[in-house]
Amino acid sequence: MTVPTLTLNDGHAIPQLGFGVFQVDPAETERIVSAALEAGYRHIDTAAVYGNEEGVGRAIAASGIPRDEIFVTTKLWNGDQGRDTARGAIETSLEKLGLDHVNLYLIHWPRPDLDRYVETFQQMEAFKAEGLTHSIGVSNFHQPHLQRLLDETGTVPAINQIELHPAFAQRALREFQEPLGIHTESWGPLGQGKYDLFGEKAVTDAAEAHGVTPAQVVIRWHLQNGVIVFPKSSTPERIVQNFDVFGFELTGDEIAAIDALDRGQRVGADPDTATF
Ligand code: NDP
Repeated sequence: MTVPTLTLNDGHAIPQLGFGVFQVDPAETERIVSAALEAGYRHIDTAAVYGNEEGVGRAIAASGIPRDEIFVTTKLWNGDQGRDTARGAIETSLEKLGLDHVNLYLIHWPRPDLDRYVETFQQMEAFKAEGLTHSIGVSNFHQPHLQRLLDETGTVPAINQIELHPAFAQRALREFQEPLGIHTESWGPLGQGKYDLFGEKAVTDAAEAHGVTPAQVVIRWHLQNGVIVFPKSSTPERIVQNFDVFGFELTGDEIAAIDALDRGQRVGADPDTATF
């Protein structure tokens, strides 16, 4: 199965479906990421703060898959934001991953209270120029944070990775980003299991109509909305199931019914006020 790719605003290609490893136990990460690579995933989303970059790196090394066939994202943690600290953060991540570059490096949260995301992003422009990362972007940025980056650095981030699932569809932010060429990545794409997404009638009706699971319907909804998505699972059957989403297509009516579930319901922190 070949996963569709999207072309980022810097010309690099990204597989639209990947595998997320938030809350994957570091001791289990090599085994679980190996299962994902075996299932066909070629895009892994990790972060320094997940504590499992070593396991991701070991699975990649053990897979024997050529480096240029795997898209790897990691993220700079909030305490490492700053002109003098960002370089140490990416060097540590690369060392843990056992890689000489990542494909995408993100500022994990804006933390507007710190007021360091502009200088951090400027450092990341240098990392890109040096080849430590192919692409640079941000995560959990709201429109004013993005606007400030554009105004003060002149560089358009390739990606904004944001909480996005049917109850929190982020339409306004996506509409702001799209004309700028900022691609959207969905985190918590299955709602992190924190509400009964898989019991919603719009989801169960589509699952029944296509003979697939509710999770597969929701992943398909992300893909057909044009966003990049990397569901997490530590369960072998679900790892395989979540990748098996290219044998059916949701109708316009099914997409519209799932779109109608949007009620501005976050399951995670608000980036404007988060202080971790
Ligand atoms: P998800 O929305 O992907 O939900 C994961 C949960 O769904 C787990 O409990 C998992 O269970 C369950 N699940 C997975 N597949 C299925 C299935 N087929 N059927 C039923 N349940 C299923 O949440 P995440 O927060 O993990 O988001 C995905 C990725 O996004 C993260 O792994 C991370 O890479 C990224 N992320 C980024 C953030 C950021 O701030 N930038 C914040 C949060 C996440 P189980 O594992 O037991 O199978």
